[in-house]
Amino acid sequence: MKSKNKKETLLVALGGNALIRKGQEGTIEQQFENLKVPIRQIAKLSQKFKIIITHGNGPQVGSLLLQQESCDTTPKLPLEILVAQTQGQIGYMIESTLDSELMDLGIHAKPLVSLISYIVVDEKDPAFKTPTKPIGPVYTKEKAADLTFPVSKTAKGYRHVVVSPRPVTIVEKREIKKLINMDFIVICCGGGGIPVIREGRKFCGVDAVIDKDLASAKLAEEVGVDIFLMATDVYGVALNHGRSNEKFVSSMTLKEAAKYQKEGHFPAGSMGPKIEAAMQFIQNRGKRAMICSIEDIDKAVEGKAGTRIG
Ligand code: ADP
Ligand code: MG
Repeated sequence: MKSKNKKETLLVALGGNALIRKGQEGTIEQQFENLKVPIRQIAKLSQKFKIIITHGNGPQVGSLLLQQESCDTTPKLPLEILVAQTQGQIGYMIESTLDSELMDLGIHAKPLVSLISYIVVDEKDPAFKTPTKPIGPVYTKEKAADLTFPVSKTAKGYRHVVVSPRPVTIVEKREIKKLINMDFIVICCGGGGIPVIREGRKFCGVDAVIDKDLASAKLAEEVGVDIFLMATDVYGVALNHGRSNEKFVSSMTLKEAAKYQKEGHFPAGSMGPKIEAAMQFIQNRGKRAMICSIEDIDKAVEGKAGTRIG
């Protein structure tokens, strides 16, 4: 076997702040500028690891929804089409930033690709009954009362919520595996993947958004990832998050993670799915799961920042 195929596989799941930082308007210039921080580190890591990049799409898919709400002259597009649009949009931004960072490092021959990815969900998933996943901007209570779509109160304020079924299988898993074994950097499962159900031999899109951390854990399991890293806007995982007795945790065993989860330290919609994704990954024989800040991806891979689970 060629030595490059012996490299470990690293999956980096980029959180929303890789593109838009807290308090920013989210112009395209800001998004490109922000992306350089994680992508520069990933470009360096690609010399040592086979790399898969996944990413969220909450603010972007929310913006597309708002844009179509404000226009009555063209037909409305369902959510699955908007998710596909954000995969193209963000995939292009990551790919072009990565290309330029690789060039800056003098790496000219690294193949990269962003892949439109479908993820099968179960049409009987009880998650279809209740919208829980926040997308788009934050509204005031007054504005939220006038909106025509489902809205829920979140830690950040009132937000549009959509249904979020669990990922069952990644349709393009074989293709992704082949590409990383050929040393491609693969950008895939963007925005949690396009949710589809099977109707006979056909795939049909559904109006939902899959959590990108749970989608990434499923992908990691199906293609055999070694290190699964979720990069977000906090240094790592804390107990009593946001309270005066908050305490950062540098590593936790599966047992400890389950105990803290039961005690309610990890809310649904933010840290909850990350911990669940990390636990699933370790239970499925992944080597190491990390949750860290976008700034510390390289340090976390070396075990010098963030929180290790498992
Ligand atoms: P991403 O876009 O990266 O998925 P999320 O907002 O979904 O970001 O999740 C990260 C957020 O989780 C942090 O901004 C933090 O406020 C929140 N959070 C909730 N509980 C915890 C916890 N126990 N430890 C650390 N952060 C937490
Ligand atoms: Mg999230």
